[in-house]
Amino acid sequence: MKDATTLARAHEDRFAARPQVYAAPGRVNLIGEHTDYAEGFVMPVAIDFATLGAISGREDGRVVVYAENFGEERSFDADALPTARSGDWSDYPLGVMRVLAGEGYAIPGLSLSLWGDVPLGSGLSSSASVEVATATAIAGLLGVAIAGPRLARLCQRAENEFVGANCGIMDQFISANGAADHALLLDCRDLSYRLAPIPETVSLVIANTMVKHSIAGGEYGTRRAEVELACRILASHRPEIRFLRDATVSDLGRWGEEIPLAARKRARHIITENTRTVEAAEALLRNDLSTVGRLMQEAHASYSQDFEASCAEADTMVELAQEIPGLIGARLTGGGFGGCTVNLVEKSLAREFAARLAEGYRSATGIRAEMHLCRASEGAHRVL
Ligand code: ADP
Ligand code: MG
Repeated sequence: MKDATTLARAHEDRFAARPQVYAAPGRVNLIGEHTDYAEGFVMPVAIDFATLGAISGREDGRVVVYAENFGEERSFDADALPTARSGDWSDYPLGVMRVLAGEGYAIPGLSLSLWGDVPLGSGLSSSASVEVATATAIAGLLGVAIAGPRLARLCQRAENEFVGANCGIMDQFISANGAADHALLLDCRDLSYRLAPIPETVSLVIANTMVKHSIAGGEYGTRRAEVELACRILASHRPEIRFLRDATVSDLGRWGEEIPLAARKRARHIITENTRTVEAAEALLRNDLSTVGRLMQEAHASYSQDFEASCAEADTMVELAQEIPGLIGARLTGGGFGGCTVNLVEKSLAREFAARLAEGYRSATGIRAEMHLCRASEGAHRVL
């Protein structure tokens, strides 16, 4: 399976109905890490890995979902969709259907074939791409328009409420609203956003460290608690500070001594990261790539040293990148403690860059990294 035509043909063979086909991309975050729950800014990019959803109506009142990647089918009564998760892939499309139904969109009998090439569980948000592909396909089948920001919110609710994963809004938002050759600066406070161009001469090289340290789960909660503590202490001096989004470096300078050291460092990361993220968008808007690169380097240092959410392998991957021709900027992306680094690289050198980075990483760590060469791509849309 590689394209929409092939998926449409397989769908037609299986369900004897010609489908409409929709695509929703995965994503990588260029800059703005752990700023979402501080009501701050993030700047993700939709990538050219996507989940496709082929959809057609059916007369028997059944909802039949087929996952091409797994070769598995699930079938339900459209009037009695399951109310509890089953713990497998079907939770994502079903969660979306339940949330849509709860919003008053009656789910008709339908056949839905899903297929995707977003690597699963690598931090490129295959889950959001499945949700957004499902929601977009159902909206298409129903002939209703659901605005991108709202559709993203509904998909996030599916993941929070049905799947049971405590994710922010970023992944679904960029999958629904991304634009080709652009990054998207999202204000997580009010979901307003701005597109910033990525020049044609630039590639995204996503390097999977192939490690994910198991402390990640517990540390996430600790980081959030530290961020909230720092926020409460600053707010006791300046009540306008509802989230760290509202705080400044000079607030930290004045009252930072009152905050325990670890929490103070986490706060410094969030506060400076917010500023860097907005500055990076402005730099992209004036085509100032060297500033974007510098901000990515600073973001990595802050994530590693102040937020302490990197790991030896990710630091190595970022350090190795500095020595390779073509690099504009590199940093660890995603929740931390492993996962992928994102590298902005001059397009003409991107292939060689990726090969050299993989080779350097292998000799430094013994690990064979997966490399993905991506371009900034369009958000969810109809393909066929
Ligand atoms: P990530 O979103 O970082 O890729 P998650 O653990 O959040 O990782 O989501 C991965 C899960 O999403 C998979 O285990 C699977 O259940 C579901 N999923 C992803 N892609 C597909 C697909 N093409 N078809 C069906 N389910 C998928
Ligand atoms: Mg996910």
